[in-house]
Amino acid sequence: MHRIPVLLPMPFAGPFDYKAPANMALKAGDIVSVPLGNRRQTGVVWDTHSTLPPELVHPTPAKTVADNRLRAVAERLELPPLNAELRRFVDWVAAYTLSPPGMVLAMTLRLHMKGTAPAPAMGWVAHNTPPTDLRVTPARQKVLALMADGTPRSTTDIANAAGVSAGVVKGLADAGALRGVLLEPTRPFAQPAPLHHPPVLEGAQKDAAAALRQSVQGKKFSVTLLEGVTGSGKTEIYLEAIAACLEQGQQALVLLPEIALSAQWMDRFTRRFGVRPAVWHSEIGQKARRLTWLGAADGSATVVVGARSALFLPFCNPGLIIVDEEHESLFKQEEGVIYNARDMAVVRGRLAGFPVVVVSATPSLETLANAQAGRYQRLVLPTRHGGASLPQTHLLDMREAPPERGMFLSPKLVEDITATLEREEQAMLFLNRRGYAPLTLCRTCGHRMECPHCTAWLVEHRNRQVLSCHYCDHTEPMPPVCPSCKSEHSLTAIGPGIERITEEARQLFPDARILVMSSDTLGGPAATAEAVAKIARREVDLIIGTQIVAKGWHFPHLTLVGIVDADLGLGGADLRAGERTIQLLHQVAGRAGRASAPGRVVLQSYTPEHPVMQALLSGDFDQFMEQEAEQRRPGFWPPYGRLAALIISADTPQAADEAAARFGRTAPYGEGIQVLGPAPAPLALLRGRHRRRLLLRTWRSVAVQPILHRWLGLVPLDRHVRVEVDIDPVSF
Ligand code: ADP
Ligand code: ZN
Ligand code: ZN
Repeated sequence: MHRIPVLLPMPFAGPFDYKAPANMALKAGDIVSVPLGNRRQTGVVWDTHSTLPPELVHPTPAKTVADNRLRAVAERLELPPLNAELRRFVDWVAAYTLSPPGMVLAMTLRLHMKGTAPAPAMGWVAHNTPPTDLRVTPARQKVLALMADGTPRSTTDIANAAGVSAGVVKGLADAGALRGVLLEPTRPFAQPAPLHHPPVLEGAQKDAAAALRQSVQGKKFSVTLLEGVTGSGKTEIYLEAIAACLEQGQQALVLLPEIALSAQWMDRFTRRFGVRPAVWHSEIGQKARRLTWLGAADGSATVVVGARSALFLPFCNPGLIIVDEEHESLFKQEEGVIYNARDMAVVRGRLAGFPVVVVSATPSLETLANAQAGRYQRLVLPTRHGGASLPQTHLLDMREAPPERGMFLSPKLVEDITATLEREEQAMLFLNRRGYAPLTLCRTCGHRMECPHCTAWLVEHRNRQVLSCHYCDHTEPMPPVCPSCKSEHSLTAIGPGIERITEEARQLFPDARILVMSSDTLGGPAATAEAVAKIARREVDLIIGTQIVAKGWHFPHLTLVGIVDADLGLGGADLRAGERTIQLLHQVAGRAGRASAPGRVVLQSYTPEHPVMQALLSGDFDQFMEQEAEQRRPGFWPPYGRLAALIISADTPQAADEAAARFGRTAPYGEGIQVLGPAPAPLALLRGRHRRRLLLRTWRSVAVQPILHRWLGLVPLDRHVRVEVDIDPVSF
C-alpha cells in the first residue's frame, strides 16, 4: 500500500503516515486535512526521502503504523502547495536547531495549533459527498440546508444566517461535512512600478548599487554585506536591488528587526515604488495575514516586508532577501524554535539559489568574519550622503563632572541641552531602561525588592505606582513599609530609569516640550508613528527614549544626543557585551545631525578609558571589531568556533542541579570539543523555573548537531525537567 507521510504542525519527531483515498491524487507539498485522534488536523504531504546533508539528518524515526491501521487523508485543501525548496528549508531549520520539524512547519502554516482550518482559508462550502456516518441534529440540518446552494460563506455568516452557534459550524467542519475554501480575492496586491523617481546615486553608492544589481541578475546564491555609516544611503541602494529583482519578475523579502516601528520605512518604499508592500508581523490582523500568506504563495505579493517570521512565508518565486540591521539581536527568536533569522535567511537563499543582502552600519563580528574569509561580498559606503557630517562625539568623564546629588545629568550635558534648545534645535536623551528606578532598596535593613519568580530586581514604575519584573509579568503595588524590617519611609529608589530622567528634565528645562518614547508610553505602532511625525513637525524640543529611539528614524531637526549611561550593558561576563553596546550607541548617535545642521553626541561615562568609549570617540569601528576578534579567536569563541547552549530547567534548584550534573557527567569529549559548565544560567531563576547552562564549544570544522543528539539521548530526564537547545546563542 502507498504510504503518504504527512507533517503536522505539532511537536512530533517527524511526519505520520496516512493512506490516500482511492480517488485522491496527492503529491508532496499538498496541504491536507487528516484525522488525528478524534479530530481533524491540517498538515502537509511531506517528502519520503530526506535531502539534508548527513550531519543534519534527524535521527529519530517517526512512529510507524502497520499498513492495516493506516488512516486515510480526509481531503486536500484548496491552497497552493508548499514547494520543494520550502519543504527542504523547513527540514533544514528543524535539523539545525534540533527542533521537531512540525514546529518549524507551524511557522510556515501559521495555523492555530488546534484549529482544523488553515489560516488563509476563511470560508466553507458543503462537501459533495458528506460522510455517511454524519450525525444530523436539527441545528446541523439548518446549516446543511443553507449551504446546499453551494455559496462559500464564513463561519460567522453561516451561524447568523442559519441561526446556530459557531460551534455547530465548526462541528460540521470537523466531521467532514464542510470544506474550507478561500473567500478573499486572490491577487489583491497592486504591483510596484520600479521607476518611480529613483534618486541619482553618487560615487560609492553607484558602485554598490551596480554590484547588487549584478548579484540579483545572476539569480544565484550569494551573500553581500552592505555596510555604511547611518545616512550613507544603504536603504536607497537596496531599494535599487529590489527594483532589479522586480524587473525580472521575482519576489523580494525585506526583514526588519522591528517592523511594527517602521512607518517611515513604509512611506519611503511607497514613494519609491508607488504602492505599499505586503506586510507580515505579529500585530497585523488575521485578514492581512491571510492575504500576505496567499500573496507570497501565488506570487502576487512581489515585495513583502516583515519581522523575522516572514522568512517562513511560502514564496513561490523568491529572488532576493534583504536583512536590514543584520546585527540586531531581535532577529534571534529565543522561544519555541530557537533560531536566528539572519542566518536562516542565508540558508534559505542557499537552498533556493538566490542572493541575500545583509545591511548594517555596525555589522556583527560573525558577518565581518564571513566577509573577511571571502564567503560574503562586502560593499562599503564610507560617507554620509550629500556631505552631511557624522556627529561629533564627546566623552564626558562623570568622575570629573558629576551630577548634583540625586541627579543623573552632568552640568556639562545640561549646558549643552540648554544651548541646543535656545538655538531651537532638538535634543535627545537616551537611556536603555524603562521605569523609574531599576532597584528599590531599604535604607534601614538593606532589603532589595526582587521578583519572586526570577533572578531580577523589581523595577519601579512610578507612573503606575507599581514594582514590576521585566522578565515575567509579575507586578505588585509599591509596599507602604519595608517587607523585611517593616520600617516606614525607608524604601529608596536606586539608579535611574527613563521616568526618573524625565522628572529631572522637567525640573531642568521647564519650558521644553518633552516627549517620552518607550514601550510604556507608546501603546503600539500607530502611537509610535505619531510620535515620530510630531518630532519631524518640530512639535517637540526634547526627546527622552529607550532603545525604541535607536531604530532607523530620520529626525531632521535633531542635533544633540545625550547618552545618560554609556556604561550600561558593559557589566557582566557576556563576551558580546562590548559589541552589543557599541552597536546600540552608534545607532543612537546616528540619529543626530542627519540633515544640514551638524550633530553632537555626548556620552556620560564613568569608564571613559574603556575600549568601547574610545572606539565611539574615534569612530574607528573596524579597529574595535579587530580587537574583539583577537579576544575571541584564541578560545575559539564564535565566530571562530561553534557554540551551542543547553539550558536545563526544573521546578526546584535540586532537580535542576541534578539534571545538569547528569549532563556534565556524560559531556562529549574529543579533539576540538569542549564543554563548559554546568553553571547557573544567566537568569538562574526565570518565571519560576530554575535554570542551569552548559556550553558546547567546538572548532568550526566540528558539526555540533550529531554530538548534541547523542548527548541528549544519553541522559534520561524526569518529567519536570526541560532541556532547551540554543544553537549559536546570542550571549556567551
Ligand atoms: P542609511 O540607510 O544608510 O541610513 P539612507 O538610504 O536612509 O541611508 O539615506 C539617508 C538619506 O539620504 C535619505 O533621506 C536618502 O533618501 C538620502 N539619500 C541617500 N542617497 C541619496 C542620493 N544619491 N540622492 C538623494 N538623496 C539621497
Ligand atoms: Zn528594611
Ligand atoms: Zn519575574
